[in-house]
Amino acid sequence: MTHTGSCHCGNIKFEVEGDPTTALACNCSICSRKGTLLWFVPSAQFNLLTPRENITTYMFNKHIIKHQFCGVCGVQPFGEAIDPKGNPTVAVNIRCLEDIDPLAVPVHHYDGKSK
Ligand SMILES: [Zn+2]
Repeated sequence: MTHTGSCHCGNIKFEVEGDPTTALACNCSICSRKGTLLWFVPSAQFNLLTPRENITTYMFNKHIIKHQFCGVCGVQPFGEAIDPKGNPTVAVNIRCLEDIDPLAVPVHHYDGKSK
């Protein structure tokens, strides 16, 4: 099904196709600070409903992942990257989806700190 998500103030809104069967909790320097629960989908399943200019991008380390957040309310609803096979991928923060209970999605703990 299609899920709708947003930042807190609504400056960034999006739709994503599919249902998260698992979410990734990573212990790297940024994920641990933000507490994101990530669901990885191909970019084709993701549809941004608000202008791209509303997004602020943060990049660090190898500059592989675009950590997209709202410059108004500070929430990060998703990140964007190219996966190792060359496919554009979106990491949706399931905490920002309206009709998903993030506590009901099984969490896979990922040791990003050691990578
Ligand atoms: Zn916002």
